[in-house]
Amino acid sequence: MSGRIDIVSIFPGYLDPLELSLVGKARQDGLLDVAVHDLRDWATDRHRTVDDTPFGGGAGMVMRPDVWGAALDDVLAADETTARRTVLVPTPAGERFTQSMAEELALLVCAGGQLVIACGRYEGIDARVAEHYAEHEHIAVREVSIGDYVLNGGEVAALVITEAVARLLPGVIGNPQSLVEESHGSAGLLEYPVYTKPPSWRGLDVPEVLRSGDHGRIGTWRRSRAVERTARRRPDLLARHAPPHVRLAKGVDAEAIADVAARTFALACPPDLPADDAEAFVAEHLNAVALRSALRSRDRVLLVAEVAGAVVGFTMLALGRPEAEDVREVVSDRAGAELSKCYVLSEHHRSSVAAELMRATLSEAQRRGVHSVWLGVNQGNERAQRFYRKHGFVRVGSRRFAVGSRTESDYVMERTLAS
Ligand code: SAM
Repeated sequence: MSGRIDIVSIFPGYLDPLELSLVGKARQDGLLDVAVHDLRDWATDRHRTVDDTPFGGGAGMVMRPDVWGAALDDVLAADETTARRTVLVPTPAGERFTQSMAEELALLVCAGGQLVIACGRYEGIDARVAEHYAEHEHIAVREVSIGDYVLNGGEVAALVITEAVARLLPGVIGNPQSLVEESHGSAGLLEYPVYTKPPSWRGLDVPEVLRSGDHGRIGTWRRSRAVERTARRRPDLLARHAPPHVRLAKGVDAEAIADVAARTFALACPPDLPADDAEAFVAEHLNAVALRSALRSRDRVLLVAEVAGAVVGFTMLALGRPEAEDVREVVSDRAGAELSKCYVLSEHHRSSVAAELMRATLSEAQRRGVHSVWLGVNQGNERAQRFYRKHGFVRVGSRRFAVGSRTESDYVMERTLAS
């Protein structure tokens, strides 16, 4: 299925480079559909005005929400059959655009979803535009920054994002193997230095090991150069991939845990679950007050995983026999705890955080005399099911689970702990 990226800008010509190179070829080959729109086509006055003075005063102009609203309504409706859409709003005040975000967006585009990039100019776009579309149940809005500097407009960011996403689509890069060891990949390292012919140039020789033909030695050399380079140039990346510190949660962790829950809960839900329902669930059950009371409760055990001193994941065990009848029927009589929460921030998904958290949680359960742990996982969440299987959980049945106005069908999985 060919994916679709729409870019809205007052300088459509700025996006002409997307006709060149790999992205241009992907478009020609029908692997990707890119449409560039002129925001001024939706302006209503003679001068095609798109901006106005800021409320509250201050320098510069702000882009008008009515013009942006008309443009985005049309661009989003142009592809009405698409269930999943993401509106990206480039801004230096946004979350950082990363390789893992590029991967997420490539998955969306690959699955036939629509990615719309709204390029701001001047002081940016009236904040109500992002707020308004974020309320739509099938639209995700993400305000993203491509780096800690300020550009004049979102077009360069749109070029960056489109290229980073497009090269991950199947068929765009001739040899997909070249994506595997790249910088910012799953190893969390910068790539090792690379060389080609001639073997000797201006007195500089290619390292002997690379010409040895010994693939074992070459692999070891490359890995150690990658680690060395990352430590020297980007120690922050190494810190992110440092082993997590997992410990029992304390009262003071309630806010940080609520923050992780708010940022991860929706990811564990089915994609078609209305955002309102997920948000309502988080607001009711996973707010700091509710978590503080769980932290005080004798039958709740919470663990947190910290990386570089920040909480990046947590688990919650609810001790005791399951209350729900449909769960009691399928789990063993000795089921002594539910793993009711297991959330890790998405940027740490490919690290050891989740595995360490799970290992520590199961050993804490065991220490408390629990013989068997069960959990409910959404039937559509295959990533989580794979993770639980890897940690010894097996599917034993199903249960109904209410999220907001919807009742979801979960698989029930269980794992016995060695006594
Ligand atoms: N007043 C804004 C601020 O300080 O956050 C800066 C506005 S900037 C001059 C104009 C536009 O350039 C933004 O609306 C955005 O589209 C784009 N832009 C600038 N820097 C960016 C960055 N680092 N990442 C993504 N977009 C950026």
